[in-house]
Parts: sequence; structure tokens; C-alpha cells
Amino acid sequence: MKPILGLVVPCYNEEAVLRDTLDSLKAVVADLVTRQLVDPASRIYCVDDGSRDNTWQIIQEESLRSAAVCGVKLAGNVGHQNALMAGLSTATADCDIMISIDADLQDDTAVIADMVNAYLDGADIVYGVRKSRESDSFFKRNSALMFYKMMNALGTKTIYNHADYRLMSRRATEKLLAFRERNLFIRGIVPTIGFRTATVYYDRHPRLAGESKYPLKKMLSFAVDGITSFSIRPIRLIFATGIIMLIATLTVSLYVLLAYFHGNTIPGWTSLMLSLWFIGSLVLISLGIIGEYIGKIYIEVKDRPRFFIEKTIIQQKETTF
Ligand code: UDP
Ligand code: MG
Repeated sequence: MKPILGLVVPCYNEEAVLRDTLDSLKAVVADLVTRQLVDPASRIYCVDDGSRDNTWQIIQEESLRSAAVCGVKLAGNVGHQNALMAGLSTATADCDIMISIDADLQDDTAVIADMVNAYLDGADIVYGVRKSRESDSFFKRNSALMFYKMMNALGTKTIYNHADYRLMSRRATEKLLAFRERNLFIRGIVPTIGFRTATVYYDRHPRLAGESKYPLKKMLSFAVDGITSFSIRPIRLIFATGIIMLIATLTVSLYVLLAYFHGNTIPGWTSLMLSLWFIGSLVLISLGIIGEYIGKIYIEVKDRPRFFIEKTIIQQKETTF
């Protein structure tokens, strides 16, 4: 049996591109069906993320024109990541594999077939990775590079140049949906799920039409989410700074005491200097210790799944040794 494919497309004020996008995606699905890679029941899920323009009307019209087009209308704008989760949770009911793709078709649809092939070869998660960032502005290119480097330095597994263009099998999607946290950074969660993964490489185009829904402000807050949702190393940094300051305090104390005994100080300087440095490092170390507990609380509160079992072998027969 061929797998049923569900393309999940989050749409926020996308009236300028949506019709063209759906035409291209329908053609892609039709082609996959003809090549007998996916089941004819495969479909496209458009998630309207509380758009204020005609996005939902377009989805409605298109769903009447083609049985392949499904629509999910969210009651309000909840952001790209939440909209994706909503679409994935709807699609898992009927589909065997889901591919998430942006409505502006910046991600090359030509590799969808490669993703499906990788799935058929046994991968549960297939990452779409950009070959280069030539279509980006100088600023976006370099800020993105810095961000990935920082994420990795802070100990979070992220796939370099991979955003949210990926295929996931139903069981992998179900695992992703088990993460109940609110500060969602899906591309950071997926690599922690496990299972066999594969990668396909593609060139990212400029947006078809309309404008980016990720202005600098949203991009920065997304980046902060990415770091603070996965790492408590910034807290450890406070503690480490406290220790370094304490060591520095010893050196400074030596200097201050020497100056005092040589008599070239004014009254009060020695005691002030000593207490200033000592209390400073003590405060930082205390903050680091408290932070360590807050970090623990934070991790517990997120209540992430501890593990996922891929397979088990449980014997039902009576044992004969
Ligand atoms: N999007 C969404 N909700 C939002 C913002 C964006 O569903 O609040 C969707 C948007 O319609 C698009 C995708 O997320 O399909 C990525 O947005 P965009 O292409 O504007 O981001 P960029 O490619 O510029 O980073
Ligand atoms: Mg885009």
C-alpha cells in the first residue's frame, strides 16, 4: 500500500500567493500519485492562522474546486509554530506521512519526491536543508549563521540551515505532538525525537508574492525562544562568572592589602575595596545557585517526554530452556 501524504501549509495573510501555491502543490501531489509513490487520497492541509485578509475564503473556494484541498481555520493568530502543530495534529488522523511547507513556496517543491523516497527507504524524519543562503539578505544570512553556531555552542541539537520544511512519518509526528510546551521551537525538538533520519538538499527561492511574516522583531523573539527553551547554560554562565570573580577577588585583595600596609591609601579604601569585590562575587555565585534550581524547575515544568520506544520484543510463549 502506498502512503497517504499530507502537505501541511500554515497560512497567515497569504492571499497574494495562496492560489498559485495550491496550484503548484496540487500538481506536485498529482505527479507523485502518477509515479505511484503516494496514495491518491493524499491531500493538502491549509491552516489559516487567524488571517485578516481573504486567505480563508480562498481556502474554501479551492476546497470546493478540488477534493485534495483541506482547510483548518484557527480561531485566532497563534503564530507559525503553533499553526504547524495544529495542521500536523489534524493531518495525522488520515495521513501516513506529513510534509510541512511554507505558503510562499520559498522551499523547492521538487524535493518532495526525494523526501517521500527517503521515507520509503526507511527514514521516519526527512530534513529539507538549504544548499546556500544566496537568496537571503547579507544580514539575514549572517545572523542565521551566528544563531545556529550559538545554539550548538549552548548544547542544543539543531540541523544547520534546516527550518520547518520536513517530512515526518505518522509515528514521528505523534511523538512531536507529545511535546506540550508553549514556547515552541519545533526545529529544536524534532532532532531529539530519535528514529532514522535522512536529509535532502534544495535551493531556497525568494518569496513568490506578498511579504515576509517574520519581521526582525519576531525573528529575534523566535531566536530567544530557541535558546531559552532548550538550554539552561546561560544560567551556568552566571555561576561561572561568580567563580571567576571570586578568584579575581583574591588577587585584588592581595593588591589592596599590600597598598594598605605600604601606607599609600586613604582611610576606608581598603575595607570598601575588599567588601565590594567579595560581596560582588558572592552575589553572582548565589544567583547562579538559585538559577540552577530555577533551571531544574523550568525543565520539570515543560514535562517533556523522557523517551520514545521504537520497537519492543515481548515474548508471549511459555519459556522452555
Ligand atoms: N505564518 C503563520 N503565522 C504567523 C506568521 C507566519 O502561519 O503568525 C506562516 C506564513 O504564512 C508562512 C510561514 O509561516 O507560510 C513562514 O512565514 P514567512 O514566509 O513570512 O517567513 P520567512 O520565510 O520570511 O522567514
Ligand atoms: Mg517565507
